[in-house]
Amino acid sequence: MSNDPGKNQEDEDRMHEFTTLSGADTIEVGRQLVRVLKPPQLLILRGDLGTGKTTLVKGIAQALDAAEADEVTSPTFTLIHEYGEGRVYHVDLYRLDEPREVATLGLEEIFDRDSMVLIEWGERFPRLLPANRTEIRIRPVGEDEREIEVRQT
Ligand code: ADP
Ligand code: MG
Repeated sequence: MSNDPGKNQEDEDRMHEFTTLSGADTIEVGRQLVRVLKPPQLLILRGDLGTGKTTLVKGIAQALDAAEADEVTSPTFTLIHEYGEGRVYHVDLYRLDEPREVATLGLEEIFDRDSMVLIEWGERFPRLLPANRTEIRIRPVGEDEREIEVRQT
């Protein structure tokens, strides 16, 4: 624990935590996050397979009027999905191993737009992503319970 109360306060200000009990709950958290996380914004979604990263994107895309929740599907094989004419980009780097493979995707061009960019498995390629980003960690607690931690850096 830090001895500097000012720093603790700052950390608290930048952190949000949620507990959800269903996929629908997590979609609702995504909708709420759009109130505080406005585009342009880079969100790194962290968490094991099947924890709810893509589910959270459904709520974010819906709240930005970019797509309906059921239109948002995993970009695991397609790598990048675009919704709402570039308002939202959803990227999944799970299947890529080498930084040079990521470099061919043209992500820099996307970062230059006024978009909400959501990246799953982006923490595997930290040097290829702008430092100014928000990290969202999803941890499974029980079968359907998740802890969602949002940290703005
Ligand atoms: P990821 O993108 O992290 O691999 P998905 O969002 O594709 O995960 O899948 C999460 C799965 O877990 C979905 O089938 C969803 O219905 C289910 N699920 C159960 N409880 C929750 C919860 N609290 N939050 C998010 N997803 C949940
Ligand atoms: Mg996913």
